[in-house]
Amino acid sequence: MQQARPPPRGRIVDALELIRSIPELRARRQATTRPVALVPTMGALHDGHLRLIEEAGRLSDEVWVSIFVNPAQFAPSEDLSRYPRPIEADLAACESAGVSVVFNPSPDDMYPPGAVPTQIDVPDLATEFEGAHRPGHFAGVCRVVFKLFSLCQPTFACFGLKDYQQLVVIEALVADLNLPIAIQRVPTVREPDGLAMSSRNRYLGPDARRRAVGLFKALQLARRLIADDGEADPAVVERAMLQTLEAHHIRPDYAAVRHPHSLQPIDSIDRPVVALIAGQLEGVRLLDNAEIK
Ligand code: AMP
Repeated sequence: MQQARPPPRGRIVDALELIRSIPELRARRQATTRPVALVPTMGALHDGHLRLIEEAGRLSDEVWVSIFVNPAQFAPSEDLSRYPRPIEADLAACESAGVSVVFNPSPDDMYPPGAVPTQIDVPDLATEFEGAHRPGHFAGVCRVVFKLFSLCQPTFACFGLKDYQQLVVIEALVADLNLPIAIQRVPTVREPDGLAMSSRNRYLGPDARRRAVGLFKALQLARRLIADDGEADPAVVERAMLQTLEAHHIRPDYAAVRHPHSLQPIDSIDRPVVALIAGQLEGVRLLDNAEIK
């Protein structure tokens, strides 16, 4: 994918301020007395991101969006170089949504050559699922999120339930390290057929796009089995989810019913659970989840 040339530093797009350097961001933060509501993203913004921005706008007049494709959370074999970076369209979307600041640093600004890396580890939550399938992913996520928190000093930060495991990892990080930040959970925005919106959906060809709804169908089935039929055995629900993925020719990475806070296995479904699912179609990895009461 062709990369858009980044706009010049410090450009003001009407009311929207585009900041690309850390010193500028720090100065802007010092000049702000209002609480900041931060929305961390990797860009290629879609309606899911816009829902986070809308939620942030409810929390504060000072909505800051970071757009940074974080190399630290991609494994070497992953799609870092082809990850979409439509910065001009993203800025236009942020401007229409009433965002005050877009922080769009370069990788060298965030990770200066020679910097000694820090690792924040949340092993109880981050080892399985995405952690197992994407080695180093959550270390990269925690490092960049902590840096963004440190730079932006937000009072509020909005994260999507779409990335459920990431959300509980960040919540744990904030709680355990006593960060004075309220994490706002934002529901998943879906396409009309139920597919969760994702920047990676644009990699799907027409056939894969049609079959991608299998993730949502598997979650709907889990919900029916648990909430309507009273199925109490997690293994039965997990098998049914896997069969639905396979019926849509989605190569499953995992389909699991777990405790919604600890993400640990449960013996029997006798309280709210989370169903977590991930699979691959034509080399594109998609994930989704459902909280089931
Ligand atoms: P990303 O740009 O993919 O790193 O996502 C940035 C934020 O947007 C994360 O908190 C995601 O959970 C959230 N997000 C991504 N897709 C959706 C969606 N379909 N609905 C709601 N939030 C989303």
